[in-house]
Amino acid sequence: MPTITAARLWNGKELLDNPILQIEDGRIASILSRAAGKAPGATSPGDLDFPAATLAPAFFDVHIHGAAGHDVMEATPEALRTIGRFLAARGTGSFLATTVTAPLDMTLRALDGLARLIDHPEAFDADNRAARPIGIHLEGPFLSHAKRGVQPKEYLLEPDLATFDKLFEAAGGHARLMTVAPELPGAIELAAHATQRGVRVSVGHSDAKAADTRAALAAGAVSATHTFNAMRALDHREPGILGVVLATRTLYAELVCDGIHVAPEIVDLWWRLKGPERAILITDAMAAAGMPDGEYTLGNFAVQVANGRAMARGVLAGSVLTLDRALQNFIAFTGAPLDEALRLLTVNPAAMLGFSTGIPDQTGLLAPGSIKIGAPANLVAVDAQGKLLASIHEGELIQQ
Ligand SMILES: [Zn+2]
Repeated sequence: MPTITAARLWNGKELLDNPILQIEDGRIASILSRAAGKAPGATSPGDLDFPAATLAPAFFDVHIHGAAGHDVMEATPEALRTIGRFLAARGTGSFLATTVTAPLDMTLRALDGLARLIDHPEAFDADNRAARPIGIHLEGPFLSHAKRGVQPKEYLLEPDLATFDKLFEAAGGHARLMTVAPELPGAIELAAHATQRGVRVSVGHSDAKAADTRAALAAGAVSATHTFNAMRALDHREPGILGVVLATRTLYAELVCDGIHVAPEIVDLWWRLKGPERAILITDAMAAAGMPDGEYTLGNFAVQVANGRAMARGVLAGSVLTLDRALQNFIAFTGAPLDEALRLLTVNPAAMLGFSTGIPDQTGLLAPGSIKIGAPANLVAVDAQGKLLASIHEGELIQQ
């Protein structure tokens, strides 16, 4: 049976020294610790040894629109295969396919297509080489005009339960997260309704004052979408959405850690406030991630990418970040220890969505953000600075 060995293993809970994982048919058959000092090395074909690295669960990105020249809203096998293979090579094992605000019929078509592909991963990933979409994040259409960012204003809608239900049905039970601006009329009722249907609510793209934000939290919202970006700025007399997001200890909060969306000092401040249990790193990546500078599409509009910035109509339009870079940036900006930093792209997003015990559906034992016996051996090997040394998918090394 092939083995994977390393200096350490972070299993989602604790660090183990000198781990040895046995792999059978791409799944983890056992997790043991070999006696310190005894170095098995790579002794048989298929063995992998990372003598200076920490093994950790593959990353889980709950906010990503695309990569490698494709957008998830294309909802084709080709798009998900290309995106998934690129992400797998960068250490991401699973993600929520994230929509942007678009004409309602286009969004419904995309959701329907994505739901079919999530149900039938063999249609785009017959040989198990791709990161898997394990749900959908609806970023829009119920967002604020004042803080829409690049979300097209003509397709933004006021919260409406019937429209939500259409989106929910089209997503075939795979809508897991929805970004909502709490100050919109009907937003609080929508937050309660979505939560009741099993869709987690994240507050964002919002000009909300503190009272509206607190009401959304009381109605069930559990997270905040790309904290600081497309969000009413902090004011010390009217804390607004940002003040409530930073001060509410139980609330999860996403952040795009590319050094462009949020300055390093503010990343550090966010970390000190949200801490290792509630901070979540996302990419908000779009089609240009992993591609050269040029013009790309996000949803149904054009985005220009140059020098690591994706821009449309003069504002940031998603990112070209990958989670492995986000981890390195985060450690560099905050000095956080590796095992705490790893939580932000593994167990925290899974816990926010209620996935901490695995997904009890057709994805079987796929438990994003954790290492479990019986689950696919989707792992990363990283150094102490968070640099990705290797990405392992279904027990095999992915060549970068
Ligand atoms: Zn986004």
